[in-house]
Amino acid sequence: QGAISFKDVHFSYDPARPILKGISFEVPAGKTVAVVGPSGAGKSTLSRLLYRFYDIQSGAITVDGQDIRTVTQKSLRTAIGMVPQDTVLFNDTVAYNIRYGRTSASDGEVFAAAEVAQIAHFIEMLPEGFETKVGERGLKLSGGEKQRVAIARTILKAPPILILDEATSALDTTTEREIQTALDVVSKNRTTLVIAHRLSTVISADEIIVLKSGEIAERGTHAVLLEKS
Ligand code: ADP
Ligand code: ADP
Repeated sequence: QGAISFKDVHFSYDPARPILKGISFEVPAGKTVAVVGPSGAGKSTLSRLLYRFYDIQSGAITVDGQDIRTVTQKSLRTAIGMVPQDTVLFNDTVAYNIRYGRTSASDGEVFAAAEVAQIAHFIEMLPEGFETKVGERGLKLSGGEKQRVAIARTILKAPPILILDEATSALDTTTEREIQTALDVVSKNRTTLVIAHRLSTVISADEIIVLKSGEIAERGTHAVLLEKS
């Protein structure tokens, strides 16, 4: 579920300056495709277009064969879980911040036991004071802890599609490896679009696309791309 297709997608923020110049690729349901490339190549723009922050100028983006322009924004965004580079938390408890991802108000405040079990793996790595407010004078969370909150929040939403947009780029190497391991677990069997800077962080992707100046410069598995470079 959640197969993504970009077909000859053109996009520019400013008509005088094309950002994406005819991008076509697919993320088969349950698979992981990573987009890597230099800063400014247009990687984050791809994820913003899938989330419909902006509309494309030509081409098509489909999810399960349906053009995303024909789907309501709400149902599109319900289907997509996004873990960004810098997670912004509400000035409230970690528990509140995790629950916030709930998609329907009716199951709002209650964790089902199965869900707790599912995310306990992430929560147990959170600091003491879990129920203390995150904020200036409250609980201070490290970058890695914030990303754990973002992951737990995303898992509770149970989206068929995941976007990981530089989700580990702001972390030190050790923390990056820990969060990467957590992300590998949550992206398994989910349709996942990973945006990353370096090839070395996306070894397990089913396909890697190298984006340069808004065009696909190369594509293949990690092993194939490593051989070419
Ligand atoms: P990447 O993620 O590969 O670093 P981005 O998709 O963020 O690249 O950006 C691609 C290009 O689009 C960059 O040149 C950037 O300056 C430009 N850009 C990004 N967002 C905007 C925006 N909101 N308005 C205008 N230009 C933008
Ligand atoms: P990220 O890659 O973390 O999503 P941003 O989207 O904030 O970062 O910005 C990516 C690049 O696009 C940066 O170089 C930024 O300066 C540029 N950019 C962002 N918004 C605009 C904008 N409205 N106009 C021009 N450039 C922008």
